[in-house]
Amino acid sequence: MIMDRKKEQEVALELVEDALRQVMDPEIPVLSVMDLGMITGIDIASDHIGIRMIPTFSACPAVQVIRGGIKKKLEQKFSIPVQVDIDPEISWNSNRITEEGKEKLRHFKIAPPSAISEWEEGSLSAIPCPFCQSRNTYLRSPFGSTLCRSLHFCRDCGSLFEHFKELE
Ligand SMILES: [Zn+2]
Repeated sequence: MIMDRKKEQEVALELVEDALRQVMDPEIPVLSVMDLGMITGIDIASDHIGIRMIPTFSACPAVQVIRGGIKKKLEQKFSIPVQVDIDPEISWNSNRITEEGKEKLRHFKIAPPSAISEWEEGSLSAIPCPFCQSRNTYLRSPFGSTLCRSLHFCRDCGSLFEHFKELE
């Protein structure tokens, strides 16, 4: 069977995306680089694969780990040299997290960021509790276990939970 060039490229792109779905953020191991919206370009050539990515929070030190993880995963899977570059043209914001990614965060009991359009500075109170969905919550600390997260307390179920902060 002969696949035309375009079809071949589409199949290759899907395979690369599938592999990227298995590269997880070391700080939130349920989220892949695809869930986080960190991949800004995939270039498949006959002799190499080029990936462009952007860091999430610049304060998060995980970028080099993730970059190495992408390279290792794709090289193992496709036996072809892989180049991973940081994309200087696009900056990450929390709206880039996919709906699937937000759902995974909820399952992981971290409140996902709200859409930036609905969010106002200082609205870190009333974040929905990932345990009971109550909004009767308050900010305990602007920083949780990492700079990217804040810490909240739910008055209804008594849970302490983390929230992945909004970032523009
Ligand atoms: Zn609760």
